[in-house]
Amino acid sequence: MALYKLTLRELQERFTKGEVTACEIVQAYTLRLNQLEPKVRAYITPTKEAALVQAEALDEKLKGWRRTMPLMGMPVAVKDNICTQGVLTTCASRMLGNFVPPYDASVIARLRGQSYLLLGKTNLDEFAMGSSTENSAFGPSRNPWNLSRVPGGSSGGSAAAVAADLCAAALGSDTGGSIRQPAACCGVVGLKPTYGRVSRFGLVAFASSLDQIGPITKDVADAAMLLGVIAGHDPLDSTSANLPVPDYAKALKKKDFKKLKVGVPREYFAEGLDPEVEQAVQAAIEEIKQLGAEVKEIALPRTDAAIATYYLIATAEASSNLARYDGVKYGLRSKETGNLLDMYMKTRQEGFGPEVKRRIMLGTYALSAGYCDAFYGKAQAVRTLIRQDFEAAFREVDLIVTPVMPTPAFKLGEKSEDPLQMYLSDIYTISVNLAGNPAIAMPCGFSKAGLPIGLQLIGRPFEEETLLRGAHAYEQVTNWRAKRPNIR
Ligand code: GLN
Repeated sequence: MALYKLTLRELQERFTKGEVTACEIVQAYTLRLNQLEPKVRAYITPTKEAALVQAEALDEKLKGWRRTMPLMGMPVAVKDNICTQGVLTTCASRMLGNFVPPYDASVIARLRGQSYLLLGKTNLDEFAMGSSTENSAFGPSRNPWNLSRVPGGSSGGSAAAVAADLCAAALGSDTGGSIRQPAACCGVVGLKPTYGRVSRFGLVAFASSLDQIGPITKDVADAAMLLGVIAGHDPLDSTSANLPVPDYAKALKKKDFKKLKVGVPREYFAEGLDPEVEQAVQAAIEEIKQLGAEVKEIALPRTDAAIATYYLIATAEASSNLARYDGVKYGLRSKETGNLLDMYMKTRQEGFGPEVKRRIMLGTYALSAGYCDAFYGKAQAVRTLIRQDFEAAFREVDLIVTPVMPTPAFKLGEKSEDPLQMYLSDIYTISVNLAGNPAIAMPCGFSKAGLPIGLQLIGRPFEEETLLRGAHAYEQVTNWRAKRPNIR
């Protein structure tokens, strides 16, 4: 089988046994990239030449040595809002079009520590704000299943790259669904860890109380493997949790749902859910029952407040985080500068795209004197209620199962003129970020038009093991991964 088709674990096994070299891996992916990347456009900055140099050095170093680390020699793609030392990190923004970070994000330092191979930096919605990658200053990525459809977003480049076999695995970031939603659109696995499970150091901040880095992979076991490498305490991120990292692969040994209680929130199966998506998710719930789960209906009563709450908190934090792009320290500086104020204004005018400007304005308004209590303060109070909904639900059940997205991937341009419609596509993913819990998206079927449909499992904070066990058990009795996109 072609190397690019293998999962991370299959590839790792061959590499460990010495059946393939790092150079052969990079060469196989280079051919694949040359063939398909012009169509999919998953990457902003491909780094296959640098990867080959690294691979040569690795092969040379390994002569006669045992290869032991899980990510060693593995070709990984990284969302372009995660800092990579010496490699352009643009956040898909003109503002950072020339930004080469002088340091690695902590997750990258961990991957580098295992001698991984960086295949490139992937496309996203500018500063991770969006659900389709259409907000990228460098043009959208395409859905490998149908090139006229969006790959989802904001980690659309990473999800498209995994689905099209343009990398073995990828990293994304998830503030309101940006790992899970594109994973669902592209028919791959995406895991948003518990807030604090993975270090955010070196992830360019969008909304700091919601952002989390996580794996996008070809299957659940690969997600477990990659999570095991990036998770854990980091003194450089004060919000990272000082808890031991379990052996996630071990969690996959039990291949059933026995003794697990699974909740189905009635609010998630209401108006607006596409009938094909509902059908696929209900069929998955039946499978989960067959696997021994006790399935019951639960309530998450504040679901209807989630979008409004998120779009106040996320924009407020974004307006504060993005204040640093002022043309002084790094990134773009407008050439037409008069006085200092003029320079600030022109730089921000030229550097940011329309969605980022919209969010900065919304957030600035929500935080402004006289309005802050009414908007930001209230949103924080509702956020607590949403978290309490999840706490109450998880006193009754071990996992919650829902759709990822109300519809399969939409057409390019279909929602880009209507921000509210775009915001509504996050209805099933956003509450999880507000509450801080971990969640995984994985394929559970296809629409009649041949587009993937995603299933979401949500777990208790820091119980990624249960999440992975459930997802893996379901994956074992289905065969969705056998169907691959036929990219033309
Ligand atoms: N689509 C959501 C937004 O636009 C979530 C983005 C994300 O998770 N980064 O904010």
